[in-house]
Amino acid sequence: MRGSFSVTVDLEDWYHIPSVCGSPYAVYRTVNEFFEKWEGRYDFLTEPTNRVLDILDEFNVTATFFVVADIIDHYPGLVESVAERGHELACHGLHHACKIDPETKERLMSIEEFEQKTLLAKRILEKISGERVVGYRAPNALIGGWMVDSLERIGFKYDSSVSVNSLYNKTDSSLKTVSSFPYYPLKSGLEAGDDRNFVEFPWAYYQNILKIPTSGGPILRFLGTPLVLNGLVQSLKRGHTIFYFHPLDISYTKFPSIGNNRPFYWCIKGKSVERRIRHILKTLSNVKKVCLRDYQGI
Ligand SMILES: [Zn+2]
Repeated sequence: MRGSFSVTVDLEDWYHIPSVCGSPYAVYRTVNEFFEKWEGRYDFLTEPTNRVLDILDEFNVTATFFVVADIIDHYPGLVESVAERGHELACHGLHHACKIDPETKERLMSIEEFEQKTLLAKRILEKISGERVVGYRAPNALIGGWMVDSLERIGFKYDSSVSVNSLYNKTDSSLKTVSSFPYYPLKSGLEAGDDRNFVEFPWAYYQNILKIPTSGGPILRFLGTPLVLNGLVQSLKRGHTIFYFHPLDISYTKFPSIGNNRPFYWCIKGKSVERRIRHILKTLSNVKKVCLRDYQGI
């Protein structure tokens, strides 16, 4: 296998998902509204995050954590401990709100608002890490080409949101020229272009008759290890690729069931998913791992 891969972790809690907050079909319009109205326990994130940090130590992995910046307000010390243990902090939005409509892919906020909020999130994270934050992952992987131009304008060096597959396309581009290895996106688009001071790190997929997304996350929970592992191994033959999961994926605790639309979203998680992550890291222990800021050319 000639490629290297990056282990990436999306740091968000159960209420950040689009059925609860920050999407056109959410119960609460924003995370701020959630905190104004919610009276129950909210922190289901700290315990599994500490376990993720131990797993990464065990496999000697320096990971990239895509952090929702408002976590810093509500979980004192949590993001600090991720940075202290040597992992890269990257940006996963200020409040994890959708930036484009999941159905129509039309813009849900102005370019100015996107740049202002994302820059604020970047600065909040830089204050915690003491280092420049150069990476971005779009909340819910909903990304438009215009967002990449904005990210470059406000000082980001890379994005890692694009997933090429036959099951869904969460972007506003056809992605015809995109595979599972890093590329320079065209101006105002997500197709592959020539040299640019900005890199996209697309996710892994397994190609048979269809292209099955195999970077991790929900696919790891629902479809399991063999498919994800085969997809990673196949993607590694094409070049560098991405593995990702959420601390929530390995949580032992049942989350409050208030989300719209997705009654089964969390039905598989916990111990079994933790075993899958360990199995994948163990199987790929001889493959080079880099956190994204250290990828050559960033
Ligand atoms: Zn997310």
